[in-house]
Amino acid sequence: MKRMVVVGGGISGVAAAWTASNAAEEKGLEVEVTLVEKDESIGGKAKTVFDSEWMVETGPLGFLGSEPTVEELATAAGISDTLTDASSAAAHRFIARNGVMKEVPTNPLKFLFSGHLSPFSTLRILGEPLVSATSEGGEESIWEFCARRFGKGVADRLVHPMVLGVFAGDASQISMKAAFPMLPELEAEHGSVIKGLIAKAQAAKKSGDGAKPKRGLRTFSGGIQSLADAMIKSGKFAVRTSSCVEKIEPRVNGWWVVLKGGQAMKADSVVMASEAFATADALATDMPDLATTLREIPYPPVAVIGLGYTGDDAKRIKEGFGVLIPRTDRFRILGVTWDSKVFPGRTPKEGVLVRAMMGGTYDPMLGEMDEGEIAQIAQKEVGELMGLGGSPSFVHTKLWSNAIPQYDLGHIARVAKVEKLIAEAPGLWIAGNSLYGSSFGKAAARGVRVGNEVIDWMEKRGAGSGEQGAVQQKAH
Ligand SMILES: Cc1cc2nc3c(=O)[nH]c(=O)nc-3n(C[C@H](O)[C@H](O)[C@H](O)COP(=O)(O)OP(=O)(O)OC[C@H]3O[C@@H](n4cnc5c(N)ncnc54)[C@H](O)[C@@H]3O)c2cc1C
Repeated sequence: MKRMVVVGGGISGVAAAWTASNAAEEKGLEVEVTLVEKDESIGGKAKTVFDSEWMVETGPLGFLGSEPTVEELATAAGISDTLTDASSAAAHRFIARNGVMKEVPTNPLKFLFSGHLSPFSTLRILGEPLVSATSEGGEESIWEFCARRFGKGVADRLVHPMVLGVFAGDASQISMKAAFPMLPELEAEHGSVIKGLIAKAQAAKKSGDGAKPKRGLRTFSGGIQSLADAMIKSGKFAVRTSSCVEKIEPRVNGWWVVLKGGQAMKADSVVMASEAFATADALATDMPDLATTLREIPYPPVAVIGLGYTGDDAKRIKEGFGVLIPRTDRFRILGVTWDSKVFPGRTPKEGVLVRAMMGGTYDPMLGEMDEGEIAQIAQKEVGELMGLGGSPSFVHTKLWSNAIPQYDLGHIARVAKVEKLIAEAPGLWIAGNSLYGSSFGKAAARGVRVGNEVIDWMEKRGAGSGEQGAVQQKAH
């Protein structure tokens, strides 16, 4: 009997435990898989709260249909019938300028002439195919890449708020190659992002399988946490909640997983699916270089404030996905999503649920505030921005002190260093969203990959291919 311990019960850890249990069963290997989570419940950042008739997400609203792992897991876990696509309201997206919300057309031609950009910036976008591709291959920030290819107007007015919406981060600090590798790849291959996108669209048309790829936002009718819950319910692996892992110690032919309070579990393989800083704490004594590298990944605080409106205020809320608020505007909130417009059915009759986000790289002091104070600021600003007169009928606030990993410049080198150090530690894997993609779908995909790798490694090890084989299995 081999033992695998997964540390962290977010979607990545649950996907790793689920995948490993299934893979072991398929291969006829006896592997006892245990998931250890420090919180009272499973889900990590993807927790869904039910309060009266309101259903509010405290983290991700959904996942992108272009990330197929989530749908694959949902099918395997038997909940694909609860998959829900965003409504047509999601096509309407807004940016605030001087306190006024202005729609950003999703049609590229309509966007160019929507007045969001100056005539010069519009011409600059059209001239992108003429901008020569960089041959230096260095790591640029998202802002640098976009300013170089599309002009500073686009980088400031569109890209900055978009990065706030995705990472709660600063576009001039986050690495383009680490966060959005596809765009530098298109530049490298086609000499231009626009030319590359056109070539991709033409190739997809030519391949002609007719099926339109699902690209929009999706979730589950019972909330984003349903997926982890369904995998847990399968009973395929053991789960220990309210169990904080304090230390991971290497031992001959395995590891000790030491829990707070002194209890320890022996494991042949350990998957760290906790946040990078938490993984660093657990490994600091025996792998100090790895811990130092992981601690370089910042996690700014983010608060999610769910606000439920009824009556006249509910009627005043427009159809749409939400609004992004550039840091040049006077508001402290980063943006608002109109959750029940995008995914109806999470409110009492005729209610509207919106969620405001606060914090991020620009507002590190948010982590020091209490949730009541945060909710008051959000209520006031949402009311002002959206022209609402009264108070919300429902408020739910969640402050994540360390919310979203920032793939700052240097991230690619950090990942390479982590891979090198991990390759020297047979049986140890890193899952989670700290290295290879910070979205829900990417975290799930990383969990699946690691779950399979561990079982392949155990199979080879059992068959006597030895430690060297183990190290090679882990090469990314
Ligand atoms: C506010 C917010 C909004 C988001 N919105 C979106 C979105 O709309 N779309 C999208 O795709 N993504 C979104 N994301 C990102 C998405 O939530 C994450 O990518 C995903 O949930 C990460 O899953 P994970 O399993 O890697 O990590 P986590 O969910 O962070 O799970 C890590 C787990 O490890 C546990 N842990 C830590 N230390 C220990 C320890 N010592 N012992 C035991 N357990 C430990 C933690 O308690 C936690 O449960 C959002 C994130 C946030 C915070």
